[in-house]
Amino acid sequence: MVMVPRTISPAVAAVDSFIPRHVGPSRSEQQQMLAALGYDSLDAFIDAVVPEQIRFRGTLNTGPERSEAEVLAALRQIAARNQVYRSFIGMGYHGTHTPNVILRNIMENPAWYTAYTPYQAEIAQGRLEALLNYQTMVIDLTGLEIANASLLDEGTAAAEAMALAFAAKGSATKNVLLVAADCHPQTIAVVAARAAARGVTVTVGDAREFAVDERVFGVLLQYPGTDGAIVDYRALTEQVHAVGGMAIVASDLLALCLLTPPGEWGADIVVGNSQRFGVPMGYGGPHAAFFATRDEYKRLLPGRIIGLSRDVEGAPALRMALQTREQHIRREKATSNVCTAQVLLSVMAGMYAVYHGPAGLTQIAERVHARAGALAAGLERLGFAITHEQYFDTIRVEVGAHGQQDILAAAEAYRLNLRVLEPGTMTVSVDETTTEQDIADLWQVFNSGAAVDFNYADVAADVDTRYDERFRRVSPFLTHPTFHRYHSETEMLRYMYALQARDFSLVHGMIPLGSCTMKLNATAEMIPVTWPEFGQLHPFAPRTQAEGYAQLFRELEHDLAEVTGFAGVSLQPNAGSQGEYAGLLVIRAYHAARGEAHRTVCLIPQSAHGTNPASAVMAGFGVVVVKTDADGNIDVDDLRAKAEQHAANLGALMVTYPSTHGVFEARIKEITAIIHEHGGQVYMDGANMNAMVGVSRPGDLGADVCHLNLHKTFCIPHGGGGPGMGPIGVAAQLVPFLPTHPVIASHDVSTAIGPVSAAPWGSASILPISYVYIKMMGGEGLAYATKVAILNANYIAKQLEGHYPVLYRGQNGLVAHECILDTRGLKGAAGIEAEDLAKRLMDYGFHAPTLSFPVAGTLMVEPTESESKAELDRFIEAMIGMREEIAAIERGEADREDNVLKNAPHTATHCTADAWTHPYTRQQAAYPTAWTRDRKFWPTVRRVESAFGDRNLVCACPPIEEYAPAPVSA
Ligand SMILES: *Cc1c(COP(=O)(O)O)cnc(C)c1O
Repeated sequence: MVMVPRTISPAVAAVDSFIPRHVGPSRSEQQQMLAALGYDSLDAFIDAVVPEQIRFRGTLNTGPERSEAEVLAALRQIAARNQVYRSFIGMGYHGTHTPNVILRNIMENPAWYTAYTPYQAEIAQGRLEALLNYQTMVIDLTGLEIANASLLDEGTAAAEAMALAFAAKGSATKNVLLVAADCHPQTIAVVAARAAARGVTVTVGDAREFAVDERVFGVLLQYPGTDGAIVDYRALTEQVHAVGGMAIVASDLLALCLLTPPGEWGADIVVGNSQRFGVPMGYGGPHAAFFATRDEYKRLLPGRIIGLSRDVEGAPALRMALQTREQHIRREKATSNVCTAQVLLSVMAGMYAVYHGPAGLTQIAERVHARAGALAAGLERLGFAITHEQYFDTIRVEVGAHGQQDILAAAEAYRLNLRVLEPGTMTVSVDETTTEQDIADLWQVFNSGAAVDFNYADVAADVDTRYDERFRRVSPFLTHPTFHRYHSETEMLRYMYALQARDFSLVHGMIPLGSCTMKLNATAEMIPVTWPEFGQLHPFAPRTQAEGYAQLFRELEHDLAEVTGFAGVSLQPNAGSQGEYAGLLVIRAYHAARGEAHRTVCLIPQSAHGTNPASAVMAGFGVVVVKTDADGNIDVDDLRAKAEQHAANLGALMVTYPSTHGVFEARIKEITAIIHEHGGQVYMDGANMNAMVGVSRPGDLGADVCHLNLHKTFCIPHGGGGPGMGPIGVAAQLVPFLPTHPVIASHDVSTAIGPVSAAPWGSASILPISYVYIKMMGGEGLAYATKVAILNANYIAKQLEGHYPVLYRGQNGLVAHECILDTRGLKGAAGIEAEDLAKRLMDYGFHAPTLSFPVAGTLMVEPTESESKAELDRFIEAMIGMREEIAAIERGEADREDNVLKNAPHTATHCTADAWTHPYTRQQAAYPTAWTRDRKFWPTVRRVESAFGDRNLVCACPPIEEYAPAPVSA
């Protein structure tokens, strides 16, 4: 590839250039905006915003800009280097048929994938219902009482389960987790890495020989086991309960359609991967992990929980429940650091269950089980011993050391993947996509490629696939009407569109979320995700089949290293939070390798995002809080004092740059130098990289590690709360410690940490999104996008500063890529709070900015470069319109209680009710601007009460009667 940067000529941008498609304001609109700010060129403006001492003056060496067609054609060639074999590897990843109606209308549909995390419940009822379906499915299939709306993957879900059990039952002397050796190896490794950081002792062994004593706070079992065995663990769970411990079970939702759910035989927590419910394997992800437990542990549950509440009229309404558990509030005392999870994928898995219903799922499970049974019977005819009598989809075959060679050779010829469990022992895992022909091929493969003298029908006829009494599921599941109504495609399509219509996403308008960078997720970037060469690969397929992926990873790692100014990159972490944890573990490993394992103090500024302290604790650090000054910058004197005070044990500083207040702190290099002088390493939270790409580089500022939220800066869509990716870049001294993986050694050095994810490259199948973005923009285009992002934010700040105070500013009175509007002053005079503005914005056709972070009672606005000047002006109009509505209250012309802001949002039902008692008009309520008359987006419920729902937590589909409106006074 030729790496010649091409200058973007403003006048003659080629018609097929992607850059002006990605960047909202045209060049002439930028000139108008610059004029409003008093600058005559974008570069002069950027020179004024970005302190000279942090400036990157080069051009990113990520190649020239290329058109959509060029990049997709090049990526086709890369994809062609991946080989899609039939995989019978299992290990938590299975072939599945994504129902096409779900593939096209959810997975490939921007109305679903561009939505934000449902913090604003009134405009998110669609995906909240979809998530409630998912939770209901998990609760029913596992036999437990409460489930969350997804975690990142099965391995980390098991680690979170360990953390919950330890928090509930553990102590300094009760700190042993017994782990069954027949859990998936990646699960064991992720749990072991997490345990080591937390001081928990993990003992891996045969569950039949567990020594359950008072030191044990939990056991981790797998049902069915990684080799397919189904074991009766009733006696073991009783033993664990007798010593006051908890039983954690990793399981498989499809198997649980036929098997007694763990919740019915004593499990306290059940985790697993819902991937095989219609989500492609994607070489490791993304898919939704599930997590279910008993009601008594609800306050310790990691991740987000969707619950039923009511709106101010008493109508049922969904929202995220028990949010006070989360890191945003609990910080270093949080139950977990998980923020972005896997919403889009849990929506898909839940829809798969809605579409098939309990009868359909049972049929699929029975067919899978019958195929496994036929496979086993055929292999016995061929003289192989099948180890286990009770299995679901995976059979364990003893083949002998010699046979194994021939079988593997034949498998290669048939282009199929098998698993060698240990020398002489193999497993074969079948799934929904396995055909009779596949089974026949497998027989031939085990017959060293020679034909067999029986066929599927012969064998299947005398296979008994019924489970023995102890294991057979008798309890019903998915009895709620939702799982029985939408089995025709017409009904399903309409159901999904009915939900979609309730949700505000980027297809409607700007989602100006400070810190969360909701920019364009271009169609060209999304298209490769569902190419079979990316979607259909098993994560543990031999690396020789994934050369296309290897090239993609290499190039992306190179480009991200270039963007961050670092020496190495790991693509393993599945979200920003996981990048933080991984980066901090890397720092700990570095200190330990230098004989300084005692360096476990982590300095974190007051204003940090909640995931920072939560991750630090997970990685085994103690948190020391550093003050921020009146301008929102780190208080350098306090930092120096704390660094000196803790010099002997200083491990790290976590710092967000530009700051969470949206300001380029000019003293950042001094700050990183202070940490280095005192023996610490600097972790930079890169969530705000959208203000830096091509303009400033963390590595040049003295940072040693930085994560990137690819679902913020690099165009992976938010999916309504996930997926995401949080790769880390590190300086040279930390490269040897980057995470590796126990099954596929991605980073083959003995000093490597980890793993931090179940799959070696995390959610590999969404990496093409960031790749395509970087390649289409080119090095100069990336920097240009950053500059316009900063311009857009400053334009908004400038236009609104006369109406709302702009809280923090950097040099020359300018902000970075976001600005904080201070709405606290409205409380006294008008009784209006930031939340009222957030809800009223819905009436104006907007999603609210970030509410009360990093400063309580404020709104943080980040427009991104993708929003056009017209959209910015519309937002400005809305904000000014609301300020006038507030002024009317201040003047006494509008009522302090009964006004358009306090009653927001207004629904169509409310506005068209026969009775209208408010002192303002229906027009004022619903159509405050010309745009709203043309493109009205109606919230479907009125303001949702959170406290009521938290007191009466219902996190599964409620009985249908609950949907009848109840009086508010109830
Ligand atoms: C979004 C964000 C994170 C967490 O990232 P996730 O991908 O949601 O885990 C951390 N820090 C800051 C400042 C963020 O904005």
